[in-house]
Amino acid sequence: MHHFSYRDGVLHAEDVSLAELAVDLDTPFYCYSTATLTRHFQVLKKAFAGLDIMICYAMKANSNQAVIKTLADLGAGMDVVSEGELRRALAAGVPARRIVFSGVGKTAAEMSLALREGIACFNVESEPELELLSTIAQRLGETANISIRVNPDVDAKTHVKITTGKSDNKFGISMTRAREVYARASKLAGIRITGVDMHIGSQITTLEPYQQAYRILGGLVEELRADGHPITHVDIGGGLGVPYRGTNDVPPHPDEYAALVLDTLGHLNCKFVMEPGRMIAGNAGILVSRVIHVKDTGEKRFIIVDAAMNDLIRPTLYDAYHEIIPVSEARNATLNSLADIVGPVCESGDYLAQNRPLPQLEPGDLISVMTAGAYGAVQACTYNSRLLVPEVLVNGPHYAIIRPRQTYDDLIGLDRLASWQH
Ligand SMILES: *Cc1c(COP(=O)(O)O)cnc(C)c1O
Repeated sequence: MHHFSYRDGVLHAEDVSLAELAVDLDTPFYCYSTATLTRHFQVLKKAFAGLDIMICYAMKANSNQAVIKTLADLGAGMDVVSEGELRRALAAGVPARRIVFSGVGKTAAEMSLALREGIACFNVESEPELELLSTIAQRLGETANISIRVNPDVDAKTHVKITTGKSDNKFGISMTRAREVYARASKLAGIRITGVDMHIGSQITTLEPYQQAYRILGGLVEELRADGHPITHVDIGGGLGVPYRGTNDVPPHPDEYAALVLDTLGHLNCKFVMEPGRMIAGNAGILVSRVIHVKDTGEKRFIIVDAAMNDLIRPTLYDAYHEIIPVSEARNATLNSLADIVGPVCESGDYLAQNRPLPQLEPGDLISVMTAGAYGAVQACTYNSRLLVPEVLVNGPHYAIIRPRQTYDDLIGLDRLASWQH
């Protein structure tokens, strides 16, 4: 469920008209809904109310300060994967004790900062990382709480580029080596074992892969405890999908997911951490764009819009489907015919939709790319010297620009001539 709907013939974000926003801000822009972010977090929190759980929003999905502050104010912790994300979380006022640090390539500098700030846990992904963390912690006179990310070799049945829990993915430590690595960790100074961690992929739309993975994880926790390790928390990962195709691909409800966690891991009597990103931010955001030209080659209708792959790379990177609707409800009611929606970037891969039944659209019309709140703005770049687009947060009848449009001075001003060119 989300809070983008037609009112008086115009698509609104909560009580704000997107047609009016487009006049105020120009296009393209990202627009996020506070009510939708809040709802997703609350539904998840309620579903897991029976378990002692810390919900750490995976910031890489959408790390705007205003978005993470919205969630932090509801009690969310953060899952960070870099120093930049850690700094963003701290800057938004998230207490360090509610931050976990994931990722395969944490550097010494990142570990030092996280240790000095006193984060809740490092999700360790390799033995070299474990050794380095021990060294850094000793140097600082700190102790690092760790869980080891194990790779259960389960196929999450999602797109290959967002599958992370197979043995040929770079993530985690194989199940066969897990006990050995925990044994090593228990001997290292500066390291305190507190949990186990897993994340098998993203946009997962059935519970089956989780069921398989959690059974394996539950078994491991029992073995580790028998080996004498104090496992007090299990990090169950993120990854539950969102309905990109409306009612055609409905992911499991958080209640079912929570029931599965209780069923497979509840007997362990431990705390839980979860790291949802997409399911919180995904359909809480849209990308609004304007039609520049319509080019009909006779064989194909191309609708050329002012947003492009540099603004939203998901269709190109993951073959992702995003529903696209006109901001005008009257346009939406016109007869559909097949079209590609493409941007101005000089790449054949620059499209937002291909061979899609779409209504009649004319230059100047506004369109909304739905479910663009996660892995959208955060992956934007300035390819073709295009400016990063603004982000807006709506709350009821109010809106705030939570990142202004970049300026050409900002963009070009980052370059420096070499000394011999002056
Ligand atoms: C990306 C990621 C997540 C979040 O995945 P979603 O599909 O957005 O929920 C959680 N944990 C880790 C370790 C990740 O890399």
